[in-house]
Amino acid sequence: MLKNEAKYFQHKLMHWHEYFNERQLPWKGEKDVYRIWLSEIILQQTRAEQGWKYYERFLKTYPTIQKLAKAPIDEVFKLWEGLGYYNRCRNLHATAQKIVFELKGRFPDTYETILELKGVGPYTAAAIASFAYDLPCAVVDGNVFRVLSRFFGEETPVDSTKGKKLFEQLAQQCLAKDDAAPYNQAIMDFGATVCKPDNPLCSTCPLKNKCVAFNQKTVMHLPVKEKQLKQKSRWFVFYVLEHQQKIAVQQRMAKDVWQHLYQFPLIEFSSEKEWKIFLKKDVLQQQSLFAVQGAEQIAVTKPVVQKLSHQTIHAVAVAVKLKRIKKQTNGVEWKSRDELKQLPFPQIIHQFMKRKLMEVF
Ligand code: SF4
Repeated sequence: MLKNEAKYFQHKLMHWHEYFNERQLPWKGEKDVYRIWLSEIILQQTRAEQGWKYYERFLKTYPTIQKLAKAPIDEVFKLWEGLGYYNRCRNLHATAQKIVFELKGRFPDTYETILELKGVGPYTAAAIASFAYDLPCAVVDGNVFRVLSRFFGEETPVDSTKGKKLFEQLAQQCLAKDDAAPYNQAIMDFGATVCKPDNPLCSTCPLKNKCVAFNQKTVMHLPVKEKQLKQKSRWFVFYVLEHQQKIAVQQRMAKDVWQHLYQFPLIEFSSEKEWKIFLKKDVLQQQSLFAVQGAEQIAVTKPVVQKLSHQTIHAVAVAVKLKRIKKQTNGVEWKSRDELKQLPFPQIIHQFMKRKLMEVF
């Protein structure tokens, strides 16, 4: 029974792809493995429309994997700035170096060896293996979970161990093994443009006659998820410290958000209440951050909010002019305004910069 449904699914999907799929993306049909890998890393947790300009910017700056491997890491981060999930950037650079310096420039060419690369999970490995080498590996990502769970009426939670296994098997059964690359492209595009999370185009969908969710009116209940992402709030005060035309910055080295990016010296509060109480007091009392003697508070910004996938950051920035600075200040580097332009910063710091915070000095 399932065999027939899987065949129907595959046939209708491929027909839609051939005649009706109008989605334009710069990496579609690409056979160069470097370009495919680059696009797949950018597309992890990023919408195609947003990733597009980053993909083109990377290819322009690093047209070959050798150029990327030899680039300084801060320069690569600067190019990645604004895309978020900075681990991807770190892994991208590390993998380029491994391929160029350890594997003599040869990109791995089996699913298993591609999967061993840093930053490559089962989805990305299947995408690279099928697009670059036509290997019969089905991709399984959020789009695929949604399309398959709706079409087959499968209610097993997609984020459970049982669900992951079941959907992988189902995806592999539906795969057009001799046409893995176009099939994988088809199911991803179909999920992004027809069987969308909200407002799917069911009334004109070529699969609707046999789609279980459509016929049982359960489309918006599928796919089922076991856990909802818990959002955590964090409360920051950044200090924009100026001394003799230079601004203090620190590199975030801890395994946390924005690892490897730069920021202004920061105090984090454990609750909104503590943060608000602190802001009502004299914010220059933080003697550990700067020499208090001669410290003059110039401005305090309104709060800025940045939403990340699993946390929301609330921050204000305080501009402080210093007459003297401590000799030794915990990882603080003093940079001119021109030097700041070369460093990678998280979006929240750019928001403060856009408010012309440094021009108050
Ligand atoms: S009928 Fe609706 S739910 Fe079913 S596959 Fe098509 S778009 Fe998705």
